[in-house]
Amino acid sequence: MSVLPVYDTDTAEIARRLDRLPDVVAELAAAAAQHDLDGSYPIEGIAAVHRAGLLTATVATRYGGPGAGVSDAVTILRELGRGDPSVALIVALTLITHGVQARSGRWPDPLYRRLLDAVDDRPPLVNELRVEPELGTPSRGGLPATVARRTEAGWLLSGRKIYSTGSDGLRWMLVFAATEDGETGTFVVDGDSPGISIERTWDHLGLRASASHDVIFADTPVPADSVLELGGASGSVRASGHQVWNNLGLAALYLGVAGAARDWFLTFLKERVPGSLGKPLATLPRFHAVVGEIEAGLLGADELLTSLAARADAGEELAPSRVGAAKLVANHAAIEAVERAVAAIGNPALTRHNPLQRHLRDVLCARVHFPQDDVILSMIGRETLGQ
Ligand SMILES: Cc1cc2nc3c(=O)[nH]c(=O)nc-3n(C[C@H](O)[C@H](O)[C@H](O)COP(=O)(O)OP(=O)(O)OC[C@H]3O[C@@H](n4cnc5c(N)ncnc54)[C@H](O)[C@@H]3O)c2cc1C
Repeated sequence: MSVLPVYDTDTAEIARRLDRLPDVVAELAAAAAQHDLDGSYPIEGIAAVHRAGLLTATVATRYGGPGAGVSDAVTILRELGRGDPSVALIVALTLITHGVQARSGRWPDPLYRRLLDAVDDRPPLVNELRVEPELGTPSRGGLPATVARRTEAGWLLSGRKIYSTGSDGLRWMLVFAATEDGETGTFVVDGDSPGISIERTWDHLGLRASASHDVIFADTPVPADSVLELGGASGSVRASGHQVWNNLGLAALYLGVAGAARDWFLTFLKERVPGSLGKPLATLPRFHAVVGEIEAGLLGADELLTSLAARADAGEELAPSRVGAAKLVANHAAIEAVERAVAAIGNPALTRHNPLQRHLRDVLCARVHFPQDDVILSMIGRETLGQ
């Protein structure tokens, strides 16, 4: 495995921002149940993350940020996921965008500086809109139906993107589209541009407050120079390093969900004293074994993500199959942990009066983010067979 140059970070500034994480997580956790219930956009939670300097923590020092690395991003997302995974996902996509730029220089400097300089009183959220109703995800190949037509001033973008997380608050939208000549690229769209509308289609079981709605573009203007990877081979090719940030960061977020479920489960076991037993459920060997299974799975997954993140920060170029495997193992551990807790305690797990059912619905989203298990497994299988 090749080793990349070690990356510059402002450790004192990162520590200062991480110090604020517990308060932010507590604020998110206090509002999460209501946002889950009504599917409302968690605007205050995102503002709190931004006030703490966490939303822009991965902006590189050469651009005036503290240059938080993958390890810090894993910590931030695991903790935010514990508070409210919808907020964590919205934040993750911004952290990943900056983190990838910091390490791989995906963007031309002037365009990236425009993204950073567009300061107003809104949190500067950015996200990639790639999936479409007909195509599904372009990560499996194929051409998007969203089209960019060339004009004298630049481009006019038209099409529909689904699962567009954070849609209600995005300052910048990175839209994967095809030109009339069949070339693909990622078009950098100012969220205030004309011709953008949002259809509030997101009504999922989990991540209900993530505002992952449909975004529709109707002749939305994009400046000529605001395109990344124009003429790139296909949507399945992502910027170098993207897989590391994406796979470890999102897996950490769902480990956070499982951690919140585990914490609630432990408190329940300690406090619930059935009349028939006369002492807490936590005293029963049966529950010791369940807690042990949950804890072993989560500890192992956490160690895996933490060590791979540290290796990435030390400059090691990690194979996509390796971080794919970590995502798969961590996701399975997270889902299994919540399912075990639910199975162990019956009705108290399933009532809407307790949060365990919400954690179960949220953690199930872990499987859906690309790369999905079938893609990861066949990648590992092919590599192992030397193909
Ligand atoms: C909470 C959440 C937020 C998200 N936010 C965003 C976002 O902001 N931006 C964004 O771009 N994406 C986002 N996604 C999309 C996500 O990353 C996946 O790319 C997308 O969900 C893929 O679609 P699907 O597999 O769920 O459904 P479909 O594409 O409808 O596929 C249905 C099933 O068929 C399988 N399938 C489909 N095509 C193939 C194929 N060619 N070969 C083999 N199997 C296939 C899939 O694996 C799946 O099991 C989000 C997803 C979630 C869960």
